Amino acid sequence: MFRDQNEKNLYVRAVWKKLESRYLRYYPFLTESEFRDLFGARVIEVIESFDCRNEGCGQCDFEIDCPYYSPMLDRCGIDPYKPVHCRLWHCYDCGPEPLIKQIRELTGIFSDQLGPETEARRIKDGLEGERISRDEAERRFQQLIEQFRDTA
Ligand code: SF4
Ligand code: SF4
Repeated sequence: MFRDQNEKNLYVRAVWKKLESRYLRYYPFLTESEFRDLFGARVIEVIESFDCRNEGCGQCDFEIDCPYYSPMLDRCGIDPYKPVHCRLWHCYDCGPEPLIKQIRELTGIFSDQLGPETEARRIKDGLEGERISRDEAERRFQQLIEQFRDTA
């Protein structure tokens, strides 16, 4: 995907620039088209070349310890808005190891852990501890998305 470190650094810098100018406010909750625009054709093509054999196997949710996942929900608590770590991350069963490795490095660079994750974990814990209902958890996830995407 990247021929050398220099090429990778240039790419990472360009994505940060776009992120800051266009997506910073609602970066934790991107739509598919926003994600594609942000990461550009080169990376999207690589991701699309992966053969996610068990699409929907649910292992990703655990592996990345996603705060929006709970077995008590219908899998994803925030579909169709998903954070970058969810959209980028792939397991090694999906494609050539060197490419998966590079994609995982990008995941590490662009994963956002400073936004709504703390509140998301509170909601998830409340649901799994049976302190709030599934409807209430879904409502609060929705509220979180609106809060991030609506702030002008
Ligand atoms: S954002 Fe949704 S689809 Fe992505 S890892 Fe989390 S629960 Fe799964
Ligand atoms: S990337 Fe791997 S863990 Fe995730 S859904 Fe695909 S096969 Fe399952």
